[in-house]
Amino acid sequence: MAEIRLYNTLTNRVEPLLPVHPGEIRMYTCGPTVYAFAHIGNFRTFVFQDVLRRFLHSQGLRVLQVMNVTDVDDRIIRAAAAAGVDIREYTEKYLEAFLADLDALHIEMPEELARATDHIEDMVALVEKLQQRGLTYTSEGSIYYRIAGFPAYGKLSKIDMAGIQPGARVDVDQYEKQDARDFALWKAPKPGEHSWETRIGPGRPGWHVECSAMAMKYLGDTLDIHTGGVDLVFPHHENEIAQSEAATGKPFVRHWLHAEHLMVDGQKMSKSLGNIYTLRDLFAKGQKPSTIRFLLLSVPYRRQLNFTEEGLVQARSSVERLRNFVTRLKTPKIAPGSNPETQKRIEKAESDFDAALADDLNTAMALAAVFDLARDINTAMDREALLQQDALRAVAAMEKFDAVLGVLVDDDDDKLRKLGFGVAQARLAAAQVEALIAERTEAKQRRDFQRADAIRQQLADSGILIEDMKDGSVRWKYK
Ligand SMILES: [Zn+2]
Repeated sequence: MAEIRLYNTLTNRVEPLLPVHPGEIRMYTCGPTVYAFAHIGNFRTFVFQDVLRRFLHSQGLRVLQVMNVTDVDDRIIRAAAAAGVDIREYTEKYLEAFLADLDALHIEMPEELARATDHIEDMVALVEKLQQRGLTYTSEGSIYYRIAGFPAYGKLSKIDMAGIQPGARVDVDQYEKQDARDFALWKAPKPGEHSWETRIGPGRPGWHVECSAMAMKYLGDTLDIHTGGVDLVFPHHENEIAQSEAATGKPFVRHWLHAEHLMVDGQKMSKSLGNIYTLRDLFAKGQKPSTIRFLLLSVPYRRQLNFTEEGLVQARSSVERLRNFVTRLKTPKIAPGSNPETQKRIEKAESDFDAALADDLNTAMALAAVFDLARDINTAMDREALLQQDALRAVAAMEKFDAVLGVLVDDDDDKLRKLGFGVAQARLAAAQVEALIAERTEAKQRRDFQRADAIRQQLADSGILIEDMKDGSVRWKYK
């Protein structure tokens, strides 16, 4: 097992990862605000942390990962009030979409997915602790964190707080505070908008307090790893440190990991350029989930990633090359036996792969190890020099790589169909649907429920909903 070394934003150095609890990594990931569909830049960060957790697993470490879901913030509250629905109801469809997107990209579910609105009590308790420490003040019903009371403020972002003039807009909160740098822990209620009655008064939590409270609830006072996009370093993560460390007196996070920005065609994503893509935008253009995952993970997380059409074409062919390689290895025509040189070659690829990822998650180097192996073994197969046991060994190596990469299993069509794409081409004609329904009814009559269920599933997979009526007839429609 290679020593895992990761860049730490807090110290500006690549440092060995030394777990607080031996054999286990406790990791917190800033999750989505379920206000809209997440975009491709968000997914770069989520794929990065997925590769990280899969790699840690592959190295024999247990991983306890918490991801928050921000289902309360000013925009959500206003939009829900305008739509006349509860915030929970308003955010539900975006949360569902987010989870479906994670699934499409083979991003493993964290051990704990924590919704902010389920943890109001934990946030109130944290604000109370800060009140007891004299780090807060109240203004017009809102509770603020007094940054002047936490001298270490700025240690993560290295921001020069003296340079920020009083009155400058640091945070986007539209509330009265003593110092522009201070931030809201708890926000006063507004008429007609969602709020909670609590021991610290009525209102709703600030975004920053959400992450501190939920991270420490599930992972303890000191986390091994906290990840997020680089845009969260200041003020969000700086504020998380201020809240957590002032409350516990202990270091909050050992290793801060931040993924760099994603650019589209060399430009920052922006509404005005119209280049903010959701996954669904790309699926609608015929892109496959595995292509996007491969492209997002192919650039090491601390390098800017330029998302281009050309990159997508390359990623797609790279995934195909790997899948074809494994298929070829599994052909039965290979002669029996084993060659120690080939075994050594495969072992080298495995150790190169691990070493690359252990070196601050260098995915580009790791992929190079995989493609170099594929090239060498393909050459051996061209010469009919590859033997059966070595082929099996190579398949095992590829499966090991894929436990981290997550692109070999060809379920792209399934994933797309689940999200409602690709249905049009595969859409059954009405006559075919009717015939299947008739066959299902007949199967039920002869009590062949397995067949009846299989037909229902086949219809569902083709985007057809059926409903059994009381009189024994069946209604159906396209999803
Ligand atoms: Zn956060």
